[in-house]
Amino acid sequence: MCCRVFPLPILDKAEGQPCKFLCASGCAIHDHRRPEVCRQYACYWLDHEEMPDEHRPDRIGAIVTESGWICVGGDVLPIFVLNQSEPESCRAPEAAAMVGDMVARGRVLLVIYGLAMQIVYDRSRYASISEAEIEVAFRYEQSQDALELKRLGVVDEDYRPLTWAEAEATVRDRP
Ligand code: SF4
Repeated sequence: MCCRVFPLPILDKAEGQPCKFLCASGCAIHDHRRPEVCRQYACYWLDHEEMPDEHRPDRIGAIVTESGWICVGGDVLPIFVLNQSEPESCRAPEAAAMVGDMVARGRVLLVIYGLAMQIVYDRSRYASISEAEIEVAFRYEQSQDALELKRLGVVDEDYRPLTWAEAEATVRDRP
């Protein structure tokens, strides 16, 4: 799933497009030439032994990545990015159950397909926080890692750290 879903400029790979190194047995360059980002990356399912087999990304049509923490107001929110293989694939029963469980445990999920981002969280637990505030904080925090993300080749060359005001404008001025 990760070799299909994510965009990877370093491999000339667009979002949703299979990597050119994918072969019948997996990654054709797994042992020696796969990029550092591929060696480093592990999705949430792979990283957590307690996750059941039925939540494996290729079975639920969605891949979850732990993305650290953001501060909004006085709250520190654990952020998880869920990339879908198809629009709405996280609504399939197993995926929806996993999302529901994560949200019940206070996690904030950014559900992404293409350019669309939907923010799923427990609104009663974080009653004073809006979706827009979460998105601004996420975009700001993520952009602070621009240098490392560029080094790994997972963002384009023009990706750069945003100021808080720029992160706000990105969300506010979205068409
Ligand atoms: S290089 Fe290998 S591990 Fe990396 S995206 Fe391509 S197929 Fe997957």
